[in-house]
Amino acid sequence: MKSRHTHRYYRPPSIALGHAAYCPACFALIDADTPVCPFCDHDLVWLSGRGYRDKLLTALNHPLADVRLRAIIALGWRGEGEAAQALARCALHHPVDIVEGLQVVESVRGIHDKVVRRNALRMLAQRHPARAVRLRAAELSADDS
Ligand SMILES: [Zn+2]
Repeated sequence: MKSRHTHRYYRPPSIALGHAAYCPACFALIDADTPVCPFCDHDLVWLSGRGYRDKLLTALNHPLADVRLRAIIALGWRGEGEAAQALARCALHHPVDIVEGLQVVESVRGIHDKVVRRNALRMLAQRHPARAVRLRAAELSADDS
């Protein structure tokens, strides 16, 4: 399992943004328009609904960093304001995980609601213990005003 420590920066894969999603059952990367997960046959008809968002928000508390990271990325793709505070809290709960913190900043950047987005960025810029995360959040927050 050395890969967990070597490839630290997660790059979103080749599926076009807006059409990518993670299967809420097995967390495989899938096309958001697929009705059934090709990896685990999970029914994805409800993927666009509130249930899926709640599942992603719950996954932010998952003990495995890899699962959290996928949820963070997926919530960024969705851009819903409801996720902003949960994303920021997730980063603050794992202060030594810089990769996670930076990914949270990137996902918060994808939040559509400007006020919600800026509040979350400012919270990270002021309160995250990691300097790299604070600086990136402050940078985006400044660009945003
Ligand atoms: Zn699946």
